Formats: sequence, C-alpha cells, structure tokens
Amino acid sequence: MSDSENPISISANRETHVLTITWGDQHVSRYPFGLVRLGCPCASCRGGHENMRADPDPIVFTYTEFPDLPETRMRGLEGVGSYAVMFEWEDGHHTGIYNWHFLRALCPCEECRAKREK
Ligand SMILES: [Zn+2]
Ligand SMILES: [Zn+2]
Repeated sequence: MSDSENPISISANRETHVLTITWGDQHVSRYPFGLVRLGCPCASCRGGHENMRADPDPIVFTYTEFPDLPETRMRGLEGVGSYAVMFEWEDGHHTGIYNWHFLRALCPCEECRAKREK
C-alpha cells in the first residue's frame, strides 16, 4: 500500500462538520461532511451496481456548499477491516464503504483538485 493511500489518523468534528484524514505521505485531507455524503460510493447512491466506480463521481467537486440536513450530519464512523471506513448518517444511511483509495481521490484540496484536472 502506498503512503498516499494509507491513513495515519481519521477524525470527524461534529461541530465544524469536517472529516479530517492525515495520510502516510503527510497530506492532510479535510472533507465537509456534505461532500462525504454526496460522494457515497454505495450502489443505491450511485444508482445501481453497474454505476459503481473506484473513484468519486467528478460531479461532487462542482459543489461548494452543502446543506445542513440529517443526511449530511455524520453520526459515527467505523473501520472496515484495514482497508476502508463506513459512515453512519443521521438519516440512518450506513451502507457506503469508503476505501482509502476512494477517500484520497475524494480530497477536495487545491493540490488534489489540480492533479485531477490534469
Ligand atoms: Zn450511499
Ligand atoms: Zn488533497
């Protein structure tokens, strides 16, 4: 596993609604909860198994603001083996399994954004 897809720490701040992941290459990703939910990789959010992909739908990066709704409020998170994390949302949704590759690809920072647009 490369350092860039190996998280050292994960924390969810329920006051600022920001998920922070520090990666093995020292990169720090800060995701608004709304972005995490919007990018949910599960089959039902993606509109069927045939639409599931290893990377986030690029459309999620066109959003800059996220409404404060039950579906964008994170209730908790749980590790899935050593390869992924699952989030539970206030609306009860909890079927999205976010692996490290996917989360790193979801990083909304300027640096990662510029790399994606290349
Ligand atoms: Zn989902
Ligand atoms: Zn980044």
